[in-house]
Amino acid sequence: MSKQGILFILTGPSGVGKGTVLAKVLERRDAYLSVSATTREPREGEKHGVNYYFLTREQFEQTAAQNGFLEHAEFSGNCYGTPAAPVDEQLSAGRDVVLEIEVQGAMQVHEKRPEAVRIFIAPPSFAELEKRLTGRGTEDAAAVQRRLETAKHELTLAPQFDYIVVNQTVEQAVSDVLAIMQAESCRAARREYQII
Ligand code: 5GP
Repeated sequence: MSKQGILFILTGPSGVGKGTVLAKVLERRDAYLSVSATTREPREGEKHGVNYYFLTREQFEQTAAQNGFLEHAEFSGNCYGTPAAPVDEQLSAGRDVVLEIEVQGAMQVHEKRPEAVRIFIAPPSFAELEKRLTGRGTEDAAAVQRRLETAKHELTLAPQFDYIVVNQTVEQAVSDVLAIMQAESCRAARREYQII
């Protein structure tokens, strides 16, 4: 039987730099990046099937009702979910999979897939998170405020994850995430090692 891939979850508050860190990690290590479904409007330049599957709320709810999501959560007034089938296909084919998702969803995956490795990306300070989220310019002031309120609560949950990586500099965070992935792939329990 071929070996299963490892399921990695990268979570943390909106604006912390999960996407930036992950893009650089994937330049240096192969893994399948799951494409999520969402009911939020596409941002400029975002493409259906590449950045997200942009669904109506009705389509989203239908998929959820048919157990099509590995996890799903409501975040800042929109629904987000991880399509289950591609994740399982890749894992069965022996390829590692990375989910970049918000904190509630990451907690749900832990219940369903306790073997998943969960990495919490944290900001160096709350003030820095506020600066990054405002500076990104992708949300209006009210939406930024909502995301910051959510972030306050999310940061209290960080100790429940397997690893905390502080995104002080992108290079350091990338190197930490790569080190975690490498170490997890060497775990004795995942290795089918035999003396030859
Ligand atoms: P954004 O609207 O900024 O693209 O995403 C908002 C938040 O939703 C981010 O923290 C992002 O990581 C998270 N997110 C993206 N896809 C999923 C998903 O499939 N499930 C969950 N639970 N969160 C997601």
